[in-house]
Amino acid sequence: FMTVTAYGADDGLMTGIREKIEDLEALFSVTREDSEIYALNNTGHTGLSDDTLTLMTRALEICRLTGGALDISVYPVVRAWGFTTGEYRVPEQTEIDALLADVGYESIELDGNEARLSEGMMVDLGSIAKGYTGDVLAAMLKDGGVSSALMDLGGNIQTVGMRPDGEKWRVGVQDPFGDSYVGVLSIADKAAVTSGGYERYFIADDGTRYCHIIDPATGRPAQSGIASVTVTAESGTYCDGLSTSLFIMGVDDALDYWRAHSDEFDAILMDENGTVYVTDGIADRCSLLEDRKMQVVH
Ligand code: ADP
Ligand code: MG
Repeated sequence: FMTVTAYGADDGLMTGIREKIEDLEALFSVTREDSEIYALNNTGHTGLSDDTLTLMTRALEICRLTGGALDISVYPVVRAWGFTTGEYRVPEQTEIDALLADVGYESIELDGNEARLSEGMMVDLGSIAKGYTGDVLAAMLKDGGVSSALMDLGGNIQTVGMRPDGEKWRVGVQDPFGDSYVGVLSIADKAAVTSGGYERYFIADDGTRYCHIIDPATGRPAQSGIASVTVTAESGTYCDGLSTSLFIMGVDDALDYWRAHSDEFDAILMDENGTVYVTDGIADRCSLLEDRKMQVVH
């Protein structure tokens, strides 16, 4: 579900917003047979629209920045585990290894607006497309004269300006172990994006729980000890790409990444023991429920 609340927007602008969401979905969808990504995956090369080219370029930068934790070419592995179809299964290691042989974002070529994949490769922008959509919609709303808006794009939060009452937006951070919240983050003019193992997962016959985020290093669902990670920054695209990547990295590597890029974003990480790590840039803008202890990270 996507909900866009924009104060002072007229009907024409809101119709434009709805159409833009549908247009972007039609370009990026990995399953729709008329999408650009589908064409790329099935022919190995295609010309890209400005939106797909911009998103793909940024996605590849984040693949590089995260040392391949994000890898938009891991799709054949995601599919083998059944995460696109809902027909979940645990593939044999030999099958995973064979699929991993064709995974590697480094061999995706962009030449002008033309994208080219190596043999056997398929891409999926699902880890980052909602974040990009948030950036595009925020810009459209601002261009249309809106100075206050809140968007929930399938769990990705994107805000424009402040609330109409002049306060920051209060975003609930979901408890990965239950139905309620662990705390509230106050933001203005920023995105907040969460990736968690609780969102989409299946439980195998032996009781093992497998989530929909795949570690490209192993071809298996990430089991890094992180239960959920929320990233906040101006760019929804960066937040979305990073939340998926930091989830794969685990607490230590994720916090090292933050220390190297602390001017770019802040994060709330929760590990499987329920410890909540909050980076110091947002420690004073994040309040946790009484029974939760905040570990401020410097
Ligand atoms: P959601 O879209 O469910 O909010 P994410 O933004 O974390 O969650 O994206 C998860 C999706 O990204 C998966 O469903 C899968 O299609 C894709 N994906 C899984 N692992 C990776 C990865 N390592 N790199 C890039 N994309 C991935
Ligand atoms: Mg993501």
